[in-house]
Amino acid sequence: MYPISRLAARPSCRRLHLLFRVGALLAAPLAGHAASPHRGQPVQMNGIVAEIVRDDTAHHTSTVEYQLEDAQSRRHATLRFDGEPPKGLRSGARLAVTGVAGGDGSILLSSGSVDLQTTQATAAAAVVSGVQNTIVIIANFTNATVTSTPSQIQNLMFSDPDGHSIDALFRETSFGNVGFSGQVAGPFTINFSTASPCDLAGWANAADAAATGAGINLASYARHLYVMPSVEMSVCGADGAGQVGGNPSRAWVFNNQQSDVYAHELGHNLNMAHAATLTNQYGDASDDMSADGYALRHFNAPHMEQMGWMPPGNILTVTQSGTYTVAALETVPGEAPAAQILKIAKPDTGEYYYLSYRQPVGFDSGLVAGALNRVSVHKYTGMYDATNTYLLALLDDAGAYSDTANGITVTQQSHATDRATVQIQVAASGGGSCQQTAPALTLSPSSQGGAAGSMLAYTVTLSNKDNSYCATSTFNLAGAVPAGWTGSVSPASLNLAPGANGTATLSVASPASAAAATYSAQINVSDASSAAHAASGNAWYVVQPVACTRSVPSITFSPTNRSGYAGAAMSYAVTITNRDSASCAASTLTLGGIAPSGWSRTISPATASLSPGAASNATFVVTPPATTAAGAYNVQVSTSDAGSANHSVSANATSTVQPQPADTQAPTAPASLIASLKRAQVSLSWKAATDNVGVTGYEVWRNGTRVASTATTAWSESPAAGTYTYTVIAYDAAGNRSAPSNSVSVTSKGR
Ligand SMILES: [Zn+2]
Repeated sequence: MYPISRLAARPSCRRLHLLFRVGALLAAPLAGHAASPHRGQPVQMNGIVAEIVRDDTAHHTSTVEYQLEDAQSRRHATLRFDGEPPKGLRSGARLAVTGVAGGDGSILLSSGSVDLQTTQATAAAAVVSGVQNTIVIIANFTNATVTSTPSQIQNLMFSDPDGHSIDALFRETSFGNVGFSGQVAGPFTINFSTASPCDLAGWANAADAAATGAGINLASYARHLYVMPSVEMSVCGADGAGQVGGNPSRAWVFNNQQSDVYAHELGHNLNMAHAATLTNQYGDASDDMSADGYALRHFNAPHMEQMGWMPPGNILTVTQSGTYTVAALETVPGEAPAAQILKIAKPDTGEYYYLSYRQPVGFDSGLVAGALNRVSVHKYTGMYDATNTYLLALLDDAGAYSDTANGITVTQQSHATDRATVQIQVAASGGGSCQQTAPALTLSPSSQGGAAGSMLAYTVTLSNKDNSYCATSTFNLAGAVPAGWTGSVSPASLNLAPGANGTATLSVASPASAAAATYSAQINVSDASSAAHAASGNAWYVVQPVACTRSVPSITFSPTNRSGYAGAAMSYAVTITNRDSASCAASTLTLGGIAPSGWSRTISPATASLSPGAASNATFVVTPPATTAAGAYNVQVSTSDAGSANHSVSANATSTVQPQPADTQAPTAPASLIASLKRAQVSLSWKAATDNVGVTGYEVWRNGTRVASTATTAWSESPAAGTYTYTVIAYDAAGNRSAPSNSVSVTSKGR
């Protein structure tokens, strides 16, 4: 939580603390009102405000309700003020309120006790740009169903084969600044019926829970749109409802087959109010923010400026009488032959007149005929705030609009297919007094994401809203970012004439340690010479979670080639290193060894539990059989992990079986040769000799002559009478011969 401002109410009154909204934007699947306290009981609640407009275009009435919702528990309550709501209270503001239970889930608040400073107490209204990731959830009641199919709604929103989708409309009218992408979920049946009281937040929470249960990650969608049965007209008195601004935002569509209801409620989400006339808040049919039932159409000139879709260079603020050309509003700005919006200050109210010219191009091909080929005259506060725009006149050639209070007259002189020419009369300068007002401030993009530690840049557009009698002012810009972050604005001040726009860049860097969440980056505007020029706005900085990337471990052998004789063990030290990215959890790798058939092998230990970047050692031992032929053999160590296929890898080493060396070592001399004589037979025996490889046999020598060979340690003969001296010599397979044994002599008398 990062409180940017904290405002105490007057000491004797109930207190209302207003904090800018920060922290993760949670989509907890819990739903429902908390058990309602009894009417009149004091209640306290913290939460985020959603300003929701319920549209009943048929009756030209709308209802604005302020829902306070606890992002964690999804408890929600309607805030009821005993007078006008606090000025400037907007969607996204974080509130802690103390009030009195209304008995029906609402909280009654005394507006008089709420001491808000508008510029500080509101979440910023920022220009929205980029593709709006949108989840459309079809939510049926237990006794009523949506008549459109999911594929019909998918086409209507995103993928109409004829190019008439809501996405196509916004891309065209915003000149590519805004689009909608996403998916349709459901239908789901929520546990409400047409007999239930109107509970937009409760229905949305139930639909969210159903979608979450179906595996949809709602947190990845900025725009949540609920398509519900059209009978809800009778329950909520609306054919649609939309949250004004905020991110994420919610919209409800009850008239589900009429695409301009979708455009209208999503327009509220983008922070647009109604396209009104002086007598009907839905009366300007040249804009989707009017009544429904028309073909999809572009937005009017004040909305084009409010949304930031018309480049400032294509908006001309007229301060002198003269003849001016206004190019068609639908023209791509880079190709427009003249300014596309003419603004004229209206000093008596601080508003502006907007002149524009509409042609039947693209989605405006279906525009009501009365708005075509005529100069539209609108008035608007010129603020980037959600206030209604007003269509005042549609001028045919020679048609005029006059404002006698301010000495302004606009006359259409002529028109062509791409432009109209107007004569504009304004009062001579010096005829009025300077009226200063807060500048309009936008940050673009309104939300963007990056890894912790990254620097993100926001374009700050500041518009001097003083009337034309004021002098140029110097606006100082200062950034405010969460503690431990860095923020800077360049340039730090802008000199702007009334009606002029300027831009600066707010650069914001989060610390590398910032947790994944949505944070607020604020910009504060001040003017040392005018308190009226204070303003502030904010944008969102989304620190994105660092993804875990599983990579193959590395395996190294030491040595990579080991040599030995057949029958001898060969040992390798093996190092296994976990190469996963740092955000991954530790893994347990199973180690395996492979050696040629018939060889024995062992690996120890058989597993390695490793955190990312960590290494451990194992010992791999192979033993070729004694009969193995000399040569180089492949051996292998592998890893596997039931938890990740990316952890399977193997590495090879070489085992070289060496040729056996030549045997040059003679056996030991046979010992303990003894002889016995029995009936003329001489029998010899001796102790076995030993050899490094093996004794193959023995030679028997008699009187210096070899007389026999034997593999055993005994030999006999029956010689003729005489005296004989015997010795024995051992030999091995390589022909190495031992020294002679001891000698023995025998005298035989013969047979
Ligand atoms: Zn509306």
